[in-house]
Amino acid sequence: MVIAFDGPAASGKGTLASKIASDLGLPFMDTGLLYRAIGHILHHQKDITIEAASAQITPEFLQNPDLRSREAGERASIVGARPEVRAALLAIQKSFAALPKGAVLDGRDIGTVIAPDAPIKFFITASAEVRAKRRFMQLSQLDGNLRFEGVLADIKRRDERDQGRDQAPLIMAKDAHLIDTSEMSIDEATEAARAWVRLVCGSDD
Ligand code: C5P
Repeated sequence: MVIAFDGPAASGKGTLASKIASDLGLPFMDTGLLYRAIGHILHHQKDITIEAASAQITPEFLQNPDLRSREAGERASIVGARPEVRAALLAIQKSFAALPKGAVLDGRDIGTVIAPDAPIKFFITASAEVRAKRRFMQLSQLDGNLRFEGVLADIKRRDERDQGRDQAPLIMAKDAHLIDTSEMSIDEATEAARAWVRLVCGSDD
């Protein structure tokens, strides 16, 4: 079974997706990390082709803590608008989604492009202010000079870019289940996602 989680930055989709994956014993892919990796490689190796950059992406490379930074998120969103980057990352994601056991993937276009036939799709969102507050809490542990207004501006700019691009824009798939986590704790949001999985799988009692 394939489960798709899409939504904007810091909506909580990654946390929910990894919890559902571990509940069900399914492999999990954070597809944002692939875009972060390409953005990072293109930034540090100026003359490299997209194909050569995507060939450098290994599970070990994805452990690089620099990929979690604010700059890496911004670079990912810029390269994510390039059709040739999306094309280069398509096969990796499609083959992960085709694993015989099933898979859980989170990103922006999982339910619309990567796994349009997934039987369970979530669209996880929250207000820009709530998402910026969450991101600020994470990032300010690494950078004491960080300002909330800057993080909020990043989130809004990233939303605009991800929603406004021509290629695979961030939109909710017609058959996705919407969870707005603005007023929810992680436990409440996880329970909402688990309840939907039980309902779709017919194991709700
Ligand atoms: O999810 P994360 O914040 O790590 O994603 C970083 C950026 O990568 C997003 O803002 C988006 O532009 C891009 N991305 C994408 N498609 C995906 C996952 C991420 O375009 N499936």
